[in-house]
Amino acid sequence: MYAREYISGLAGNLSARLPDGNLLVTPAGLPKNSLLVEDLLVVDIRGVKLAGAEHLHPTSELPMHLEVYQQRPEVGAVIHAHPVYCVALSMVGISLEVPFIPEALVMLGPIPTSQYATPSSEENRQAIAGLISNHDAIILAQHGSITVGQDLLQAYMRLETLEHTARTLALAYQLGEPSQLNMEAVEKLWALRNAPSS
Ligand SMILES: [Zn+2]
Repeated sequence: MYAREYISGLAGNLSARLPDGNLLVTPAGLPKNSLLVEDLLVVDIRGVKLAGAEHLHPTSELPMHLEVYQQRPEVGAVIHAHPVYCVALSMVGISLEVPFIPEALVMLGPIPTSQYATPSSEENRQAIAGLISNHDAIILAQHGSITVGQDLLQAYMRLETLEHTARTLALAYQLGEPSQLNMEAVEKLWALRNAPSS
């Protein structure tokens, strides 16, 4: 994530559900590009720290992560990042909910943008609460993204697809007026998204 500039400085946070139902989370205040295994913390589903270095605290975005796990029992991992193109598009009011790119529709479905909320606060939990039950990727207005998956790899792949989509769209808007996929194309892609994976 750091190498691809989806995060910078101390930004971004990740979590994964453990087999016993507790969560492995990244700590607040440490750069993600140099995290060590011993920096990771274990919290319960309410966010109470159970294990990890005494001087470290869970990510300040933990409430947002907990909201996902509480609403989505099938989700095994959550990633919050600050992808540049996603954030830039939200700043000028370009929505990723409009179907432009087939891969994005199949991988992510429609991508809503949540209302602006103060980063690292309870506000972010509230901002995604009404959206996360039926979306795997959400843009946090003026701030970043949240992607979820069965495991960290799937949540990360969704982040990559999300930012690639935003980047493509940003370029298209610089070149002209991007054309939307028509209804027939969208319906076919939607069937693909909902088909049982082999
Ligand atoms: Zn953030």
